[in-house]
Amino acid sequence: MEKDFEKLREEMVTKQIQGRGLTEPRLLQAMRSVPRHRFVPLEIQDQAYHDGPLPIGSGQTISQPYIVALMTSLAQLSGNENVLEVGTGSGYQAAVLASLAKTVHTIELFSGLAGWANQTLDELGYKNVAVHIGDGTLGWPAAAPYQAILVTAAAPHPPQPLLDQLDRDGRLVIPVGDRPQQYLQVWQRQGQQFDIESIIPVAFVPLRGEMGWKEDQWPDSSIRSY
Ligand code: SAH
Repeated sequence: MEKDFEKLREEMVTKQIQGRGLTEPRLLQAMRSVPRHRFVPLEIQDQAYHDGPLPIGSGQTISQPYIVALMTSLAQLSGNENVLEVGTGSGYQAAVLASLAKTVHTIELFSGLAGWANQTLDELGYKNVAVHIGDGTLGWPAAAPYQAILVTAAAPHPPQPLLDQLDRDGRLVIPVGDRPQQYLQVWQRQGQQFDIESIIPVAFVPLRGEMGWKEDQWPDSSIRSY
């Protein structure tokens, strides 16, 4: 069984990641090394390496492998970074980041998901990830500054606390906009200024919390999302 998953993972990397132009060896190695099937519910493990998002409970999703790889690549990690992820979900993106950075802090609003992600990361031996329960739109000031921040839910606008917690030349990777489509953006800090780049259209679940979407602004969180 594990052997089959390894083969499916290798195919995933070759077709979905390399095949779409992401070729950095460290990134590909990380995508090869993280057992994605361990981060999805048992009953859909056989679909873990499909080219799409999957439901993980609480109306949330684990992103498509390509989107995880793309967001990771946009963070430009060399190995020494302190990284913040907002939206732990399954913990999969956190595991990929942990393979490429020094430390990862990840925040999840739903305590059930946070607990499940924490357990999976623990079982797999990722020692440089800390899972926190809370509102990630406020960031995690205790461990700031961050050289990279990834937000894995769609925001109305990059939350100011996240911009404030970026290091002087840090990068924020974030989907911005409402349903059904948002743009993946990179906010590159240059001192007090930001260079903003729009990458591709994406479809994430809504970012909630103080600086996120309110229930009445985006009531349906069960739509198909990356
Ligand atoms: N990165 C995840 C996928 C995340 S789906 C993975 O690899 O599996 C988006 C997640 O963001 C959901 O789990 C949702 O509960 C969470 N979320 C939404 N708003 C949030 C907020 N304000 N703070 C923290 N987490 C939030």
